[in-house]
Amino acid sequence: MQSQCTTVEKFCVCCRSWKSHTDFHRNKARSDGFHAHCKPCRCEQERVRRAENPDKCRELDRLRYPARAETSKQRSRNWYYANKQQYQAQRAIWRSKNKSVISLKAKLFRLQHIESIRKYDSQRWSNNPVRRERHKVVNSRRHAAKKNADGTFTYNDWATLCKRYGNKCLCCGKVGKMTIDHIVPLVHGGPHSMSNIQPLCKSCNSSKNDKTIDYRY
Ligand SMILES: [Zn+2]
Ligand SMILES: [Zn+2]
Repeated sequence: MQSQCTTVEKFCVCCRSWKSHTDFHRNKARSDGFHAHCKPCRCEQERVRRAENPDKCRELDRLRYPARAETSKQRSRNWYYANKQQYQAQRAIWRSKNKSVISLKAKLFRLQHIESIRKYDSQRWSNNPVRRERHKVVNSRRHAAKKNADGTFTYNDWATLCKRYGNKCLCCGKVGKMTIDHIVPLVHGGPHSMSNIQPLCKSCNSSKNDKTIDYRY
């Protein structure tokens, strides 16, 4: 049997060489039951075809082998859950080593999709005032951390404070959007805590600048 398989029996019209029948795919439609082109030739043709039109090939694959797509997706999902900790640890290492690559890629992505990102952002922020307020608190926390200020507070703390003063600027009494003002400015060592916070409108906050003025009483 082995000797039969290795005998040179069929001529490949593509690479123009004699090969064993085991080097040809089966094809019932042909008189001898084998493809005219040998396996390596067919593989090469397939590779070229895929390289020339990758999207269409992928699309056809999805149509032809929906089961295959599902199982491969399922397979990778299963793998992920089985190796979750290891994967996440590896990923963290990779990310810490490739920070510059990651940030560069993010910048590139933003540049490439700037229009849709702007649209998405503006919709997201304009439709969601709470989110905007939360962002304000998170930003202020980041700012305070940079200045090494002590203390922290949550969005709820801030919202309660604004509500207590009727969403009014403590300086001019204007009602509306408030900014987070540090009574003793961070640059003068004031903490980033509720005891050092008052709501001021934007213009009052900027005219107060780095002076220490307590409008609460
Ligand atoms: Zn061939
Ligand atoms: Zn004001």
